[in-house]
Amino acid sequence: MGLEEKLPSGVLLTSVEKLVNWTRKSSLWPATFGLACCAIEMMASGAGRYDLARFGMEVFRASPRQADLMIVAGRVSQKMAPVLRQIYDQMPEPRWVLAMGVCASSGGMFNNYAIVQGVDHIVPVDMYLPGCPPRPEMLMDAILKLHHKIQHEPLGAKRERALERAREDGTAE
Ligand code: SF4
Repeated sequence: MGLEEKLPSGVLLTSVEKLVNWTRKSSLWPATFGLACCAIEMMASGAGRYDLARFGMEVFRASPRQADLMIVAGRVSQKMAPVLRQIYDQMPEPRWVLAMGVCASSGGMFNNYAIVQGVDHIVPVDMYLPGCPPRPEMLMDAILKLHHKIQHEPLGAKRERALERAREDGTAE
């Protein structure tokens, strides 16, 4: 009797999916990218007192090619928006974005022409974190919630969504 007949349908694929997602969530590497005051709390989160290393992600990468998590820590000016998008485009798939603080999430108190009113106008956001600024504990809580999301994401779902967005933007090959 073959392996397929012994196992209920989908068991093998489900296990592979769990394993792949576990490895992805256990080694998220954030891009080094601080924009404003929220970045100070992000830096504190990586220091010894809070010890992000416990979650396999103390390595902030200076190159977006080696990062799969963008923590948008602070307000995004209109001038910075294309740079942020370029960094995102240079990160390999699968990649995730965490909007840290009210400024990154919605523009916050900077309701004016100079500030992007939510970074989701520039890149797709996977997790929003409120607060001004959110404390390191809050950032870690958001990261753990993102871990949970990654663990339960079907394989290939992010790529399909990216293709869908590219088709909508007219940038699909
Ligand atoms: Fe600064 Fe508050 Fe905006 Fe964060 S949310 S960038 S702390 S003003």
